[in-house]
Amino acid sequence: MGKAIKKLAVLTSGGDSPGMNAAIRSVVRTCAYHDIECVGVYRGYEGLIEGDFKAMDARSVKGIINKGGTILKSARSKEFRTEEGRKKAFKQLTDANIDGLVVVGGDGSFTGALIFNQEFDFPVMGIPGTIDNDIYGTSHTLGFDTALNTVVDAIDKIRDTASSHNRLFFIEVMGRDVGHIALNTGIAGGAEEILIPEEDLGLDRLVESLNKSRKSGKTSSIVIVAEGDKIGKNIFELKDYVDDNMEGYDVRVSVLGHMQRGGAPSCFDRVLASRMGVKAVESLLEGETNYMVGLLNNSVELTPLDKAIKGKSKINLELLRVSDIMST
Ligand code: ATP
Repeated sequence: MGKAIKKLAVLTSGGDSPGMNAAIRSVVRTCAYHDIECVGVYRGYEGLIEGDFKAMDARSVKGIINKGGTILKSARSKEFRTEEGRKKAFKQLTDANIDGLVVVGGDGSFTGALIFNQEFDFPVMGIPGTIDNDIYGTSHTLGFDTALNTVVDAIDKIRDTASSHNRLFFIEVMGRDVGHIALNTGIAGGAEEILIPEEDLGLDRLVESLNKSRKSGKTSSIVIVAEGDKIGKNIFELKDYVDDNMEGYDVRVSVLGHMQRGGAPSCFDRVLASRMGVKAVESLLEGETNYMVGLLNNSVELTPLDKAIKGKSKINLELLRVSDIMST
């Protein structure tokens, strides 16, 4: 057991995601509840190195639970990747009498937190904040549910225009390494095909499947493409290939891009962020360190940071089968 914790810091790092503000609010209010001081660190590890801190009390986080982005700002810090940079960060924390750090971010941010702990024996706790849901040790990362709703809303709108013009739309969604967003929104949006990094459908089978659905009477089609899909062509090359090898459709592309990261967090993400913040602070107070809080079987549990970093977040194979059956 380390020394008693009297003051904690919280920062947001890496790509922002809806729900980060709700997590900051939860960390700050849990500290207030336990009579612990709390400090917000601006711009992730960059602000940690520079000592860009702000004392936060329970009232300072009013009106943010419903806001996307992060009031503490996020950043990627090259300097924190160096020992010199991390030494500066440690000095800033000790000069401010801070006893522990909550990091809201993705696996890169957790890697930084773990290295920092190993070098300075400084207590750290991670909260998974990324829309991609690509972190081991939690069924949901903060922002994933909101991003799903944003994407489904966009698919519904695109479907309106697709069916009015007999169009085939390729819609690109985020997901370089994992297809969680594509798979879930593809099912919810009634996509004919879903291309994900975990599965190589191949161009011939894609065209075959689209032809089949057109012959079965469909007048419009939507294909959801994860950024990192395995076919190995970018979405515009995919469109050209299908244009050249299929008749009967006007083929279009829509890249949803950064809109997927923004917007008011869903009810699910607000509740999840509130639960994760409580667990992160209370675990630090109990003397735990080097863990990530995550949702497992609807319970907020701790997973060692090294496991969360190294582990693979796997797609649900049952969903793949459901999507196949639904596109019949
Ligand atoms: P996202 O999933 O949105 O990309 P992330 O947390 O994985 O979020 P990264 O850019 O990979 O985002 O990492 C955020 C920051 O964490 C980096 O800018 C860097 O400051 C720190 N970091 C990442 N890897 C390391 C490392 N190996 N050593 C020290 N710090 C690191």
